[in-house]
Amino acid sequence: MSDCLFCRIGKRELPAKIVFEDALSLAFDDITPQAPHHVLVIPRAHFATLDDVPASEAPLLGHLVTIAARIARERGLAADGYRLVANCRAGAGQSVFHVHLHLLGGRSFHWPPG
Ligand code: AMP
Ligand code: ZN
Repeated sequence: MSDCLFCRIGKRELPAKIVFEDALSLAFDDITPQAPHHVLVIPRAHFATLDDVPASEAPLLGHLVTIAARIARERGLAADGYRLVANCRAGAGQSVFHVHLHLLGGRSFHWPPG
């Protein structure tokens, strides 16, 4: 999608602090961090919401989770804990309509998230 913000970051048309990338995915710092560590993990392929990802792409979603967990481990966040968030649609707080996982760490988190 040529007008999608995260597709454009993936194509390097827009700047981002990229912390990991491979053929299927990309991870970069959130521009408005909500925690000392706030990384977005996205598929290179465009899906507007989690609800638009077909079951056949389950391995891709698993890949994104695995990458987030690896980044958390590499940053020393795993021992104390970290949070993965996927907001699906506006009612849940989704504002960029390209599927992404938020990896948040480096502070404590409340539950329920509110
Ligand atoms: P969500 O509200 O779940 O859709 O998350 C979208 C996230 O993208 C928010 O946390 C924003 O701060 C973040 N964001 C928006 N624009 C950019 C950008 N250009 N680079 C990095 N992160 C961004
Ligand atoms: Zn996109």
